[in-house]
Order: sequence, then C-alpha cells, then structure tokens
Amino acid sequence: MTFQELSRYFEEIEKTASRLSITHLLADLFTKLNPEELQSTVYLLQGRVVPLYEKIEFGMAEKMVSRSVLHALQLDSVDFAKQLGQIGDLGKTTEHFKREIISFEEKPLPVYEVYKELYRMATLNGAGSQDTKMKILAHLISQLDALACRYIVRIPIGAMRLGFSDMTVLDAYSWMVGGDKQYRPLIEKAYHVRPDLGHIGRLIKEEGIQALEAIQPTLFTPIIMMRAERLSSAEEIIEKIGECIIEPKYDGFRLQVHYRRATGEVKLFSRNLEEVSEMYPDLIEGVRKEVNANEIIFEGEALGFDPNARTFLPFQETVQRKRKYGIEEKAKEIPLKIFAFEMLYLDGKSYLTIPCSERRRTMEEYLVQKGDVFEDTVLIAPDIVSGDAKQVELFFDDAITKGLEGVIAKKKDGIYQPGARGWNWIKFKRSYSSKIEDTIDCLVMGYDWGKGKRAEFGIGAFLVGLYDEDNDIFKTVAKIGTGLTDEEWRELKRLCDEQITDSKPALYEVDKQMAVDVWVAPFLVVEIKADEITRSPVHTAGRIMKASKSGNALEVDVPGYALRFPRLKHFRYDKRPQDVTTLKEIEAIKK
Ligand code: ATP
Repeated sequence: MTFQELSRYFEEIEKTASRLSITHLLADLFTKLNPEELQSTVYLLQGRVVPLYEKIEFGMAEKMVSRSVLHALQLDSVDFAKQLGQIGDLGKTTEHFKREIISFEEKPLPVYEVYKELYRMATLNGAGSQDTKMKILAHLISQLDALACRYIVRIPIGAMRLGFSDMTVLDAYSWMVGGDKQYRPLIEKAYHVRPDLGHIGRLIKEEGIQALEAIQPTLFTPIIMMRAERLSSAEEIIEKIGECIIEPKYDGFRLQVHYRRATGEVKLFSRNLEEVSEMYPDLIEGVRKEVNANEIIFEGEALGFDPNARTFLPFQETVQRKRKYGIEEKAKEIPLKIFAFEMLYLDGKSYLTIPCSERRRTMEEYLVQKGDVFEDTVLIAPDIVSGDAKQVELFFDDAITKGLEGVIAKKKDGIYQPGARGWNWIKFKRSYSSKIEDTIDCLVMGYDWGKGKRAEFGIGAFLVGLYDEDNDIFKTVAKIGTGLTDEEWRELKRLCDEQITDSKPALYEVDKQMAVDVWVAPFLVVEIKADEITRSPVHTAGRIMKASKSGNALEVDVPGYALRFPRLKHFRYDKRPQDVTTLKEIEAIKK
C-alpha cells in the first residue's frame, strides 16, 4: 500500500464519529496490509514509529516542521504564517499549499518506505541532526500528494489524534480475523503481557491468531501492571479470599524493573509504561549491585528515604524525584529505596501463572542482600500470612501508625494478571474524614473558557469522566470549577492545550448540557476527591436511556453518577486514560 492510499484511511477515520465505524475502517485497512506494513501502520496511526513505551520521539517542534514545509514548497514565510493563522492547523495548511503547487517530484511512496524515513528522523541525534531531519521531512513533503502531506507533518509534531484507543485497535484485529469481536479477549490478554500493538498485529498476520496464546513476558518490554480491588475491613478480606499474604501499602510510586546481569542493563517503567530509567540513577545502581539474577522483571514501590532521620518520606517529598533536570543533586538529597512486592519473570521463565506465595518465596531468594534498610536499595516488602481478621487488623493499624496508606492483601494461590483489577490483590485503606474512602481517578475530557477572574487563565471549569470498559467509552461524572490553586489552573490549561481536538472525540459520551468550549484528546488523568456519589440526569456515567412515550426521542430512565463537591487532589501523570476508575468500580464504591 502507498502512503497516499493510507492517508485516505486517515482522513476517513478523522471524519468518523462512531467508534464502531472506526473499528470497521481499521479492520478493512489492516486486511489490505502485509505483516510488515501492518506493524508500521499501527505505529503511524498513533503518530509514532515505535510502541508507546519506547522512548523514541521526533523531537521536532512545530517551528521546525514549518521550516521543512517552507523549504519543500518554496513558500514565502509571511504568506505561510498568515494562512496558518487562519486555518489554525499545520497539517491542513500544508495540504492547502500543496494543492496549489504542481510538483514534478510527486510519486506514490510505499508505506514502508515512508515509515523507514520517519524512523530515521526519530532516531537521529547529535550535531547537525536537526538539519538532516528537516531535509528528510521536506523531501517527503515534495514527493507526497496534498492529503498525505496533511498527515506527514502531523506525525512529527504529535498531532495525529485520530481519536481512538489501543482497545479499538485490538477490536479491529478481531474483526480482521473473524468478522466480529470474538477474539478480543485473547488479543487483549496477549496485549497485557506485551503491549506492543504493532508486534501483536504482525504476529496475527504472520502466524495466525492462536500464536497469541504463547505470548510470554519479554525483558525490556513492560508488562501492563496488575491492580487491586478494594475492601474496607479485615473481616471482608478474610471472607473473600481466606488465609492470605498481607503487606503494607506504601505510598510512593510503582516501578517495574527489568534487569539483565550480563550487560548490566536496567530499565524502569512507571505505571503508565513510560520508561523512566534516567530519572533514578540511584535505583539503577542499587539493582545492579544487589539483584542476584541473570534476568529478572520485578515490581515494587519506590519511596524517598531521609538518611539523617533514617525514616521514609511521605509521598509529597518522594514525588520530587520525578524530574527531568537536576536529577543527580535531588538523588543525593532524597535517595530512593524500592520495596519489591512482585516478581513476574526470572531467568527465562515467566512467573505470571505461578501462585503468589511461590512467586514471593523465589523473589526473596534473588533479591535479599543484607536485609538492612539503611544499606540496601532494593528491599522486600515485609509480610505476614494470616487467616485471622484480628491479626490483619493489627497489621493494618500498625501500618497506619507508621504513616502508611494501609495494607494490600494478596491471595496465596493468586496468579499475576497483567492489566486486570481483580480479587487476587485487595487494598484496604481507611479515611476517617469523608463518606467516600477512596479517591477517584478521572479523565479530563475538555474545558470551558471561564468568566470573571477565571477568564484571565482562559479556563474556568473542566469536564471529567470515568471509563466504561465494556464499551471502551469515557462517560462524564463531574464538571469541576473550584478547588484548584492558580498554579494548578495554569498547569491544567497548559497540558490541555497541547491536546486540543477539533470536535468531541469519538470515545466520549457527553450530554448536550455538559458540552465544553474546548475538547481535549484522552491523555490526562486527575485524582479527584469527592464527598459523595450522587445521581444526575446530565452525566452519562451509568445513565440508562429509554424511548420516550412519543417514541421518536430518548429520555433518561436511570440518571447517571455524579460527584458531589469534587476537588482536584493530584495530576496523575503516571496513569493512562484506560486506568481511570471504571463504571463497575464506581458502582462498587457507591454500595
Ligand atoms: P491508589 O490510588 O489507591 O494508590 P492506584 O489506583 O494507584 O491505587 P491500585 O492498583 O488501585 O492503584 O492500588 C495498588 C497500588 O498500590 C499499586 O499500584 C502500588 O503502586 C501500590 N502499592 C504499595 N504497596 C504495595 C504492595 N505491597 N503491593 C502492591 N502494590 C502496592
């Protein structure tokens, strides 16, 4: 397939508002591609050349891409800037000029050729690389037709935003193979172990759908992390899973550690699968010195440590280690320790389906060094095994007294279920201050410009939603207009403005009354505290509609969920949109 033909699909998808129609379009497209083309195309659809967890970025700002356009089409910069101001989108502006120019260089370029050039651009670095990138892109622009140019400039500036999720691609694979959704569970399971959409698509094409059953954890490819269910008493926990392993719930940040001794290579991945190795040189060194395995994947909670007071630090201080600059100095000031709590892979063998107690036992053999909290960097979360609610309660009280969040109970024979929130892990936290014990993670869907004092920030309220995982749709639960500091409003607006979309994304279900001035692509997760979960007809989370008496319209049958007095706790940069609280969870919390 040529990139020009592929661009027709991009355009169709961009124009399509229904998720199901997008799925069909993708399935149709995938059917026409060979394995290699499919792999590249899937990355390009996401505006990338590698899976999301790989740290390869184009590093090209809009200005530099504009220079490529000017160079390729020999345009006057003032004319160009004027058009860009009017059209407001670099892709469409380039398309506009390209339509007016007769280019003798124009020719059909195979998708794979274009992909290779884009990959070269993204991986170039060092002196003179910016100039080379600019020229590669200019050469592509001169060879491609107008529509293809719209997309070829959007890719390097991260502006593809075709409005579908990874889950839509998984569905499309199923449609490609079986003409319906039947294979989605199998594909999703494989994706949780190896979240590389391109690799999965290629494997299906090359070896057939059954090949996915054999997918195993791969060193340096992050595994989607397992999550915990919640309960609010020790009795309930014991009733649910019987005698179990109880560990303290540390309040730091979760890391998945991948290590190969032969090369000394260590990669650290955050909750949202971002590679964050560069931020934590002290942890990397600790892993190299202390871990006793040839190859291992384990998870743990990283916590700041105060070497003077010899105590662990609260989340607000630990989180200061998340930074791009001044890494070494901060590492001296706030050294990190990691409390390992899971092992997923060891020396060529997957541990995902090994019972929890055995995983833990083996992990202890390979990780424990001196067992000294002051000297070691890699520690193991202490545990008890108990079937006695009173003992669990005591362990919990002890954790709370030490300033921890609570405990996590783990089913003794539970397997590690990548990407799932299940009863193999149960978190037990307590908050005395409000009716809803836990906070709720929501997706920011858009914002209103704001009036009065807020007008000066350009943002007055923002719309947030929950995830309906059965339908892969985000549904609204609150519009929040208070409780943020000036700094937080500015940060929110800055983040949102990087991801504005022309219209409401196909993945959002929003009542007319809740429409916003500015729609934002799904990317930003916020942690929200609320006093209560109530019901409201204008929110779509959990809302059920029915035909009205007259029969030609829909009316609310069961109103949706709404948050009472919602306020922002944190921006959750470590979570992906699909990690926000789901409809099923909110139903469980409400009970
Ligand atoms: P929360 O907001 O309650 O921390 P979350 O939404 O970030 O939870 P959950 O999967 O619901 O994620 O809760 C589990 C989290 O608790 C893990 O992601 C991990 O970061 C943290 N954690 C702390 N101690 C442990 C432990 N001993 N075992 C497992 N997870 C732990």
